[in-house]
Amino acid sequence: MAILLKTKNQRHEKSTLTISILYYYFYLLPRKLLLHLLNITPKKQIFVLLYHSVEDVNHENKLGLNVLPTIFEEQMRYLLESPRSKIISLHEFEKLTNNKPNIDIDVDVDKYYFITFDDGLRNFLTGAMPILHKYNLPAILFAICKPYISSHDKDHYEDGSGLPLLNKQQLMKILKHPNIKVASHSLSHQHNLCDLSKDRIVEDLKKSKEILEAISGNPINYYSCPHGKYNRKLIGIARQIGYKKVFTSDCDSNTVGRDEFLVKRVEISGFDNLFKFKLKVNGAYNWKRFLKVLKIIF
Ligand SMILES: [Zn+2]
Repeated sequence: MAILLKTKNQRHEKSTLTISILYYYFYLLPRKLLLHLLNITPKKQIFVLLYHSVEDVNHENKLGLNVLPTIFEEQMRYLLESPRSKIISLHEFEKLTNNKPNIDIDVDVDKYYFITFDDGLRNFLTGAMPILHKYNLPAILFAICKPYISSHDKDHYEDGSGLPLLNKQQLMKILKHPNIKVASHSLSHQHNLCDLSKDRIVEDLKKSKEILEAISGNPINYYSCPHGKYNRKLIGIARQIGYKKVFTSDCDSNTVGRDEFLVKRVEISGFDNLFKFKLKVNGAYNWKRFLKVLKIIF
Protein backbone atom coordinates (compact mmCIF):
# COMPACT_ATOMS: atom_id res chain seq x y z
CA MET A 1 0.00 0.00 0.00
CA ALA A 2 2.81 2.40 1.00
CA ILE A 3 4.70 1.60 -2.23
CA LEU A 4 1.54 2.21 -4.29
CA LEU A 5 1.01 5.55 -2.54
CA LYS A 6 4.64 6.51 -3.10
CA THR A 7 4.39 5.66 -6.83
CA LYS A 8 1.14 7.66 -7.11
CA ASN A 9 2.79 10.67 -5.38
CA GLN A 10 5.84 10.40 -7.62
CA ARG A 11 3.61 10.31 -10.72
CA HIS A 12 1.72 13.35 -9.44
CA GLU A 13 4.99 15.22 -8.73
CA LYS A 14 6.27 14.36 -12.20
CA SER A 15 3.17 15.56 -14.06
CA THR A 16 3.02 18.76 -11.95
CA LEU A 17 6.67 19.43 -12.79
CA THR A 18 6.04 18.85 -16.52
CA ILE A 19 3.12 21.32 -16.60
CA SER A 20 5.24 23.87 -14.67
CA ILE A 21 8.15 23.58 -17.12
CA LEU A 22 5.74 24.06 -20.06
CA TYR A 23 4.05 27.01 -18.31
CA TYR A 24 7.40 28.63 -17.60
CA TYR A 25 9.08 28.19 -20.99
CA PHE A 26 6.02 28.57 -23.23
CA TYR A 27 4.05 31.23 -21.34
CA LEU A 28 6.01 33.13 -18.66
CA LEU A 29 9.28 33.62 -20.56
CA PRO A 30 7.69 34.62 -23.92
CA ARG A 31 5.32 36.95 -22.04
CA LYS A 32 8.26 38.58 -20.26
CA LEU A 33 10.05 39.05 -23.56
CA LEU A 34 6.96 40.51 -25.23
CA LEU A 35 6.37 42.99 -22.38
CA HIS A 36 10.03 44.00 -22.59
CA LEU A 37 9.73 44.59 -26.37
CA LEU A 38 6.57 46.65 -25.85
CA ASN A 39 8.29 48.58 -23.07
CA ILE A 40 5.61 47.59 -20.56
CA THR A 41 6.70 47.14 -16.95
CA PRO A 42 5.07 44.06 -15.40
CA LYS A 43 3.56 44.39 -11.93
CA LYS A 44 5.99 43.57 -9.14
CA GLN A 45 5.29 40.30 -7.36
CA ILE A 46 5.74 39.00 -3.83
CA PHE A 47 6.43 35.29 -3.48
CA VAL A 48 5.54 34.16 0.03
CA LEU A 49 7.40 30.90 0.61
CA LEU A 50 5.89 28.28 2.89
CA TYR A 51 8.17 25.93 4.84
CA HIS A 52 7.37 23.53 7.67
CA SER A 53 10.35 21.57 8.90
CA VAL A 54 14.10 22.11 8.43
CA GLU A 55 16.05 19.28 10.02
CA ASP A 56 19.04 17.11 9.24
CA VAL A 57 16.94 13.95 9.06
CA ASN A 58 15.27 12.34 6.10
CA HIS A 59 11.64 12.13 7.16
CA GLU A 60 10.38 9.30 4.98
CA ASN A 61 6.56 9.29 4.65
CA LYS A 62 6.26 12.78 6.20
CA LEU A 63 4.59 14.20 3.08
CA GLY A 64 7.89 15.74 2.05
CA LEU A 65 7.49 18.52 4.61
CA ASN A 66 11.11 18.39 5.77
CA VAL A 67 13.85 20.28 3.95
CA LEU A 68 17.44 19.39 4.85
CA PRO A 69 19.43 22.34 6.30
CA THR A 70 22.04 22.09 3.49
CA ILE A 71 19.26 22.34 0.90
CA PHE A 72 17.54 25.17 2.81
CA GLU A 73 20.82 27.10 2.88
CA GLU A 74 21.31 26.52 -0.85
CA GLN A 75 17.79 27.87 -1.45
CA MET A 76 18.41 30.97 0.68
CA ARG A 77 21.66 31.65 -1.16
CA TYR A 78 19.85 31.36 -4.48
CA LEU A 79 17.26 33.94 -3.34
CA LEU A 80 19.99 36.26 -2.06
CA GLU A 81 21.94 36.03 -5.30
CA SER A 82 18.92 36.33 -7.62
CA PRO A 83 19.10 39.51 -9.66
CA ARG A 84 16.40 42.16 -9.20
CA SER A 85 14.95 40.44 -6.14
CA LYS A 86 14.85 41.04 -2.40
CA ILE A 87 13.98 39.05 0.72
CA ILE A 88 11.66 41.19 2.84
CA SER A 89 10.63 41.43 6.47
CA LEU A 90 7.06 41.43 7.78
CA HIS A 91 7.22 45.21 8.06
CA GLU A 92 8.20 45.54 4.39
CA PHE A 93 5.53 43.00 3.41
CA GLU A 94 2.93 45.15 5.20
CA LYS A 95 4.14 48.27 3.38
CA LEU A 96 4.06 46.59 -0.02
CA THR A 97 0.54 45.23 0.44
CA ASN A 98 -1.21 48.25 1.94
CA ASN A 99 -2.69 49.54 -1.33
CA LYS A 100 -0.40 52.55 -1.45
CA PRO A 101 3.18 51.39 -1.65
CA ASN A 102 5.75 53.85 -2.79
CA ILE A 103 6.60 52.33 -6.16
CA ASP A 104 9.75 54.47 -6.30
CA ILE A 105 11.18 52.36 -3.50
CA ASP A 106 13.33 49.51 -4.81
CA VAL A 107 13.37 50.51 -8.46
CA ASP A 108 15.91 47.73 -8.98
CA VAL A 109 13.60 45.03 -7.63
CA ASP A 110 10.97 43.06 -9.58
CA LYS A 111 10.40 40.18 -7.18
CA TYR A 112 10.11 40.11 -3.42
CA TYR A 113 10.44 37.01 -1.27
CA PHE A 114 8.85 36.63 2.14
CA ILE A 115 9.75 33.51 4.15
CA THR A 116 7.14 31.82 6.33
CA PHE A 117 7.11 28.67 8.48
CA ASP A 118 3.98 26.84 9.55
CA ASP A 119 3.41 24.79 12.72
CA GLY A 120 6.11 26.17 15.06
CA LEU A 121 8.19 23.01 15.12
CA ARG A 122 10.99 22.58 17.63
CA ASN A 123 13.48 22.00 14.83
CA PHE A 124 13.00 25.64 13.73
CA LEU A 125 15.53 26.54 16.44
CA THR A 126 18.17 24.06 15.32
CA GLY A 127 17.47 23.74 11.58
CA ALA A 128 16.19 26.99 10.08
CA MET A 129 17.13 29.68 12.58
CA PRO A 130 20.94 29.29 12.43
CA ILE A 131 20.79 29.70 8.64
CA LEU A 132 18.41 32.66 8.80
CA HIS A 133 20.71 34.20 11.40
CA LYS A 134 23.85 33.52 9.31
CA TYR A 135 22.45 35.49 6.37
CA ASN A 136 20.51 37.98 8.51
CA LEU A 137 17.20 36.94 6.94
CA PRO A 138 13.75 37.85 8.29
CA ALA A 139 10.91 35.33 8.57
CA ILE A 140 7.55 34.76 10.21
CA LEU A 141 6.69 31.67 12.21
CA PHE A 142 3.02 30.60 12.40
CA ALA A 143 2.73 28.63 15.61
CA ILE A 144 0.19 26.01 16.70
CA CYS A 145 -0.74 27.46 20.10
CA LYS A 146 -1.85 24.35 21.98
CA PRO A 147 1.42 24.01 23.94
CA TYR A 148 1.01 27.55 25.32
CA ILE A 149 -2.37 27.18 27.01
CA SER A 150 -1.50 28.00 30.62
CA SER A 151 -3.54 25.15 32.11
CA HIS A 152 -1.43 22.66 30.15
CA ASP A 153 1.67 21.58 32.01
CA LYS A 154 3.00 19.14 29.43
CA ASP A 155 6.23 20.16 27.73
CA HIS A 156 5.85 17.89 24.75
CA TYR A 157 3.34 18.41 21.98
CA GLU A 158 3.50 17.17 18.43
CA ASP A 159 2.08 18.35 15.15
CA GLY A 160 0.03 15.94 13.03
CA SER A 161 3.10 14.23 11.59
CA GLY A 162 4.68 13.43 14.95
CA LEU A 163 7.27 16.22 15.08
CA PRO A 164 7.64 18.07 18.42
CA LEU A 165 6.40 21.65 18.69
CA LEU A 166 8.30 24.48 20.37
CA ASN A 167 7.59 24.84 24.07
CA LYS A 168 6.89 28.24 25.65
CA GLN A 169 10.50 28.93 26.65
CA GLN A 170 11.74 28.11 23.17
CA LEU A 171 9.08 30.32 21.59
CA MET A 172 10.10 33.17 23.88
CA LYS A 173 13.72 32.71 22.85
CA ILE A 174 12.68 33.08 19.20
CA LEU A 175 10.65 36.20 19.99
CA LYS A 176 13.81 37.91 21.23
CA HIS A 177 15.22 37.72 17.73
CA PRO A 178 14.34 41.00 15.96
CA ASN A 179 14.14 39.38 12.51
CA ILE A 180 11.71 36.62 13.45
CA LYS A 181 8.03 37.43 13.98
CA VAL A 182 5.39 35.08 15.30
CA ALA A 183 1.73 34.68 14.29
CA SER A 184 -1.11 32.21 14.76
CA HIS A 185 -1.49 28.84 13.08
CA SER A 186 -4.61 28.02 15.13
CA LEU A 187 -4.98 26.57 18.58
CA SER A 188 -5.00 22.87 17.83
CA HIS A 189 -4.37 22.47 14.09
CA GLN A 190 -7.60 20.59 13.43
CA HIS A 191 -8.22 19.15 9.99
CA ASN A 192 -11.90 19.99 10.02
CA LEU A 193 -11.75 23.42 11.68
CA CYS A 194 -13.80 25.03 8.87
CA ASP A 195 -16.63 22.51 9.36
CA LEU A 196 -17.01 23.18 13.10
CA SER A 197 -19.63 25.49 14.60
CA LYS A 198 -19.12 29.25 14.50
CA ASP A 199 -18.46 29.30 18.26
CA ARG A 200 -15.72 26.68 18.01
CA ILE A 201 -14.00 28.53 15.17
CA VAL A 202 -14.24 31.84 17.07
CA GLU A 203 -12.74 30.17 20.12
CA ASP A 204 -9.85 28.72 18.13
CA LEU A 205 -8.95 31.90 16.28
CA LYS A 206 -9.48 34.22 19.24
CA LYS A 207 -7.72 32.13 21.86
CA SER A 208 -4.64 31.53 19.71
CA LYS A 209 -4.42 35.29 19.05
CA GLU A 210 -4.76 36.10 22.76
CA ILE A 211 -2.19 33.50 23.85
CA LEU A 212 0.45 34.80 21.45
CA GLU A 213 -0.33 38.42 22.31
CA ALA A 214 0.17 37.61 26.01
CA ILE A 215 3.49 35.87 25.34
CA SER A 216 4.87 38.38 22.85
CA GLY A 217 3.36 41.58 24.21
CA ASN A 218 2.54 42.59 20.64
CA PRO A 219 -0.65 42.49 18.55
CA ILE A 220 -1.00 39.31 16.50
CA ASN A 221 -2.46 40.34 13.17
CA TYR A 222 -1.87 37.31 10.98
CA TYR A 223 -3.29 33.82 10.83
CA SER A 224 -2.28 30.86 8.71
CA CYS A 225 -4.92 28.21 7.94
CA PRO A 226 -4.25 24.76 9.40
CA HIS A 227 -3.76 22.28 6.52
CA GLY A 228 -4.37 25.17 4.12
CA LYS A 229 -8.14 24.79 4.57
CA TYR A 230 -10.46 27.77 4.72
CA ASN A 231 -13.97 28.76 3.72
CA ARG A 232 -16.14 31.88 3.75
CA LYS A 233 -17.21 31.28 7.37
CA LEU A 234 -13.63 31.06 8.67
CA ILE A 235 -12.54 34.13 6.69
CA GLY A 236 -15.49 36.15 8.03
CA ILE A 237 -14.64 35.16 11.59
CA ALA A 238 -10.95 35.99 11.11
CA ARG A 239 -11.89 39.49 9.91
CA GLN A 240 -14.33 39.93 12.79
CA ILE A 241 -11.73 38.96 15.39
CA GLY A 242 -9.28 41.48 14.00
CA TYR A 243 -6.79 39.57 11.91
CA LYS A 244 -5.42 41.76 9.11
CA LYS A 245 -4.56 38.94 6.74
CA VAL A 246 -5.00 35.18 6.43
CA PHE A 247 -2.14 33.20 4.91
CA THR A 248 -3.35 30.29 2.76
CA SER A 249 -1.57 27.45 0.96
CA ASP A 250 -3.03 28.50 -2.41
CA CYS A 251 -0.12 28.41 -4.82
CA ASP A 252 0.45 31.80 -6.45
CA SER A 253 2.37 35.05 -6.06
CA ASN A 254 0.90 38.29 -4.65
CA THR A 255 0.88 41.60 -6.49
CA VAL A 256 2.63 44.60 -4.92
CA GLY A 257 0.16 47.36 -4.10
CA ARG A 258 -2.84 45.08 -3.63
CA ASP A 259 -4.23 44.79 -0.13
CA GLU A 260 -5.65 41.25 -0.35
CA PHE A 261 -6.98 39.67 2.84
CA LEU A 262 -5.97 36.21 1.61
CA VAL A 263 -2.25 35.77 1.03
CA LYS A 264 -1.15 33.14 -1.47
CA ARG A 265 1.96 31.10 -0.78
CA VAL A 266 4.33 28.80 -2.64
CA GLU A 267 5.00 25.66 -0.64
CA ILE A 268 8.56 24.33 -0.67
CA SER A 269 8.87 20.61 -0.04
CA GLY A 270 11.66 18.17 0.69
CA PHE A 271 11.09 16.75 -2.80
CA ASP A 272 12.29 19.96 -4.44
CA ASN A 273 15.74 19.94 -5.97
CA LEU A 274 17.32 23.29 -6.82
CA PHE A 275 15.89 23.26 -10.36
CA LYS A 276 12.35 22.77 -9.03
CA PHE A 277 12.90 25.37 -6.35
CA LYS A 278 14.03 27.89 -8.98
CA LEU A 279 10.92 27.15 -11.03
CA LYS A 280 8.69 27.63 -7.99
CA VAL A 281 10.20 30.95 -6.92
CA ASN A 282 10.02 32.28 -10.45
CA GLY A 283 6.30 31.66 -10.84
CA ALA A 284 6.33 28.40 -12.81
CA TYR A 285 3.88 26.76 -10.40
CA ASN A 286 1.45 29.71 -10.45
CA TRP A 287 -0.67 27.91 -13.05
CA LYS A 288 -2.12 26.08 -10.04
CA ARG A 289 -4.32 29.15 -9.46
CA PHE A 290 -6.42 27.95 -12.40
CA LEU A 291 -7.13 24.68 -10.56
CA LYS A 292 -8.71 26.72 -7.78
CA VAL A 293 -10.91 28.58 -10.30
CA LEU A 294 -11.95 25.27 -11.89
CA LYS A 295 -12.84 23.86 -8.45
CA ILE A 296 -15.07 26.89 -7.80
CA ILE A 297 -16.83 26.54 -11.17
CA PHE A 298 -17.40 22.75 -11.07
ZN1 LIG B 1 0.19 23.28 9.73
